[in-house]
Amino acid sequence: MTEDTPLSETASRRLHAIPGLTVAHGPEAREVERDFGGLVVGRAHAVARPEHVDALCALVELARAESVALTPRTLGYSQSGQAVPQGGIGVDMRAFGGITIDPARAIARCGAAVSWRQLLAATSAHGLAPAVMPFNLELSVGGTLSAGGIGSTSHQRGFAVSSVESFTAVTGAGEQVVAGPQDRREVYDAVLGGLGQFGFLCEVELRLRPLGRTTRTHCLLYDDLATMIADERRIMAEPWCVHLEGFASAALQGVRRGPQGRRVPFARWFGGLHVSMEFDDDAPSVDPLHGLHHREVLHVEDSDSVEYASRYDLRFEFMRATGAWQQVHPWLECTLPADAATALLPELIPTLPVFLGDGHRVMPVADVPRPAFVMLPVAPIVGLAILPVGVPAPFQPIALDALRRAHDALLGIGGKRYLSGWLFEPDDAAWRAHYGARYDDWRRAKALLDPSGILRSVLTSPR
Ligand SMILES: Cc1cc2nc3c(=O)[nH]c(=O)nc-3n(C[C@H](O)[C@H](O)[C@H](O)COP(=O)(O)OP(=O)(O)OC[C@H]3O[C@@H](n4cnc5c(N)ncnc54)[C@H](O)[C@@H]3O)c2cc1C
Repeated sequence: MTEDTPLSETASRRLHAIPGLTVAHGPEAREVERDFGGLVVGRAHAVARPEHVDALCALVELARAESVALTPRTLGYSQSGQAVPQGGIGVDMRAFGGITIDPARAIARCGAAVSWRQLLAATSAHGLAPAVMPFNLELSVGGTLSAGGIGSTSHQRGFAVSSVESFTAVTGAGEQVVAGPQDRREVYDAVLGGLGQFGFLCEVELRLRPLGRTTRTHCLLYDDLATMIADERRIMAEPWCVHLEGFASAALQGVRRGPQGRRVPFARWFGGLHVSMEFDDDAPSVDPLHGLHHREVLHVEDSDSVEYASRYDLRFEFMRATGAWQQVHPWLECTLPADAATALLPELIPTLPVFLGDGHRVMPVADVPRPAFVMLPVAPIVGLAILPVGVPAPFQPIALDALRRAHDALLGIGGKRYLSGWLFEPDDAAWRAHYGARYDDWRRAKALLDPSGILRSVLTSPR
């Protein structure tokens, strides 16, 4: 079946007969043809909603027999068509819920569709939190782990995939598998960070960390990014430094003549660093600012730690209320070798159009054991994220042009893109460059776990 061939009558009849699977066409299928990025449009013949693993296995079996492409999707918050079908069927995984906590082992077991907010509500009742959580707590655990999962504890704990103890998945070969770092390693390496191209995550066991009741945050202003990055690297391994979040922050200075002679807005860029410790009753007896080189302490606050985890809710509410959520989101996230990043970012960030906003994240990422195909540069590592709240249509070409140049510069110093972002329609050469020496293993894993090549999306379908 080609990408655009409609389902055969037999395939359609068999699909509708699978117990525990609801199938929708028309407007509901149209909904999975786009994602949060808003830059690609796909095509779905249907959206299928499995209620349990057996229904998912039957769907995979049918897809293999009838050569129908399947695209896993939970919330569709990715930005380059990762969860958008290019023909075939969108597989809505939102029914995979349920949470149980084992406080003695500090482990949470949850369905892949559970949100980080639901998970934190359950773990915090035991004084525990997921080791790494994204800034947006609405994201699904499964969708996040299919990209990697970065948050403000990543400077010590790496990506969220590194805290996966085990998971249950249905592979593209139709096999139901329990995998983990020591168990079915080939499935662990491929499915986590695998953008739904190797199998469906159904249930996950995540390692938890102790959660102090109170989070104390110092908000620091830096004269320049290089000094801020040096300070981030100075304190990132300190046990008291639970959250660490750096920004590039702009003070607008009117307009000046740009490189092409046209007048453009410009800014003086500063660094902003939020350094947080957690505690129950008494704060640790350390001075978190000792030896740092900030210009000013802008603010210090104590927050309830669960409330602190949801500190960006306001930003997402603002995006929805102003219509920015409906605009396009060419987000660019990249991990970089820290020394090269310290030299490049102070030069690169001022070249970005100011309508991409300020508040670009600049944060260290720990090099901890992880699945083999979650690619990071050689440590020490700094992560950069350019996350405009929304780009209005007339500015789209300028934004994409600037981000393309940023992408090239970042990859030029050995950066590795975070795969949930806007990836500029990668071809085989781009995937080869991304996976480097692991490219052939990555291709072999696809052949092993999805031998019929049924797991596809707009991002991965040949153009
Ligand atoms: C406002 C906003 C804030 C964000 N903040 C962060 C952040 O702080 N940290 C961070 O790391 N990321 C962040 N992201 C990016 C986010 O992690 C990814 O976009 C993530 O993939 C979204 O989860 P989702 O449920 O929407 O997945 P979808 O977009 O539905 O899917 C993403 C990918 O995972 C696959 N997939 C989905 N569900 C499954 C499953 N059950 N099994 C197998 N494959 C599956 C899809 O095929 C697709 O390739 C943010 C995104 C948005 C829009």
